Amino acid sequence: MSSTWLITGASRGIGLELVKRLLASPDVEVVFAACRSPQSAISLHALHNSTSTSGTLHVVRMDVTDEASIICAKDEVAEILQGKGLDYLINNAGVAPQDDSTTTLDSKDLMSTILANVAGPALVTRAFIPLIEQGDRKVIANVSSAMASIGTDWGKEHTTYSISKCGLNMLTYKLAKERPDLIPFLVDPGWVKTDMGGSNARLEAHESVTGIIQVVKNVTAKDAGRFIDYTGQTVPW
Ligand code: NDP
Repeated sequence: MSSTWLITGASRGIGLELVKRLLASPDVEVVFAACRSPQSAISLHALHNSTSTSGTLHVVRMDVTDEASIICAKDEVAEILQGKGLDYLINNAGVAPQDDSTTTLDSKDLMSTILANVAGPALVTRAFIPLIEQGDRKVIANVSSAMASIGTDWGKEHTTYSISKCGLNMLTYKLAKERPDLIPFLVDPGWVKTDMGGSNARLEAHESVTGIIQVVKNVTAKDAGRFIDYTGQTVPW
């Protein structure tokens, strides 16, 4: 079955790798790669000329912290889809401020991180729900982090980032309760070598993304509201 996908934060890191892998997947028809500065997303545009792609790439401008840009992106995507619907939305865009703790955190960082990591996916999801309703799969994958897991016990570090991803987790849980017709869930990509994860990270981007795609393609209604890692294992709340 051919499918349609939208990935936010597609300019680099996990988002870019997701777009690359999906375009090479024979069952993927269209990938919307959303990023806030398409003109500087050189690696993304290079995929247009790649011979190993089977799906069609559309690069769409979207800053997840700017509702007007989200609505413009939604209108552009709707125009291209022409009633076909969006099968998979991956809310991948995210930011991580400098490591901090409850006593050292910076109020501006706290606000901007919650804006990008919680309000962003909330507004993107709300805007795209009409297109997702028209899709066959109705999957919304929100990229969270094991650092949001109290059960995993990460200690006092990365407080602002952890708080923001906990907010994303609750958002996803609430959506699953409100909309049993959709499949919203959380995926932890593992510790990945990207600008955010750093060069000491355990996983190459392609290792994480291979797992993420497998998980996202295979979720069913019973996975709505779950917190799953890139290998398919449940992450404790
Ligand atoms: P990177 O820092 O490498 O990439 C972040 C991406 O998000 C970039 O494409 C960036 O775009 C985009 N982005 C940031 N803010 C906005 C915005 N306001 N609007 C649109 N796009 C935005 O991070 P990763 O690829 O490593 O992370 C991807 C996701 O995975 C994030 O949600 C992150 O929290 C999560 N994650 C990552 C882990 C890791 O080890 N790497 C571990 C656990 C979770 P631009 O180029 O314009 O800045």
